[in-house]
Amino acid sequence: MKKFTCPHCGEPTFSPLQKALAGSLRTRGKPCPKCGKRCCNDMTSIYFSAVVSVLAFIAVMVIYLFHTERVFSSILIVCIILGSLLLCFLFNMFFGKLTRPLRILE
Ligand SMILES: [Zn+2]
Repeated sequence: MKKFTCPHCGEPTFSPLQKALAGSLRTRGKPCPKCGKRCCNDMTSIYFSAVVSVLAFIAVMVIYLFHTERVFSSILIVCIILGSLLLCFLFNMFFGKLTRPLRILE
């Protein structure tokens, strides 16, 4: 499986799952298994999640305004929210790059 390169030591140390769990620039990130310095997902991840949340919000609003079937609408809204979270997670797993977190504490 494809591995992601650590921005500190340049070694392919992050698996897609580890990268997805590394968080965004606003978090502290996850330490690299090789050099121990912290890495996180870069700006593309933030842009992507912003676009997805806007689309999810619009979809939820449309359903809220036009669907009268309450149970079905609630299920659909929950699915959209979970789906958008999953989409962001998958994006971080397979796209974007790793970078140094903005808050470097170590
Ligand atoms: Zn490293």
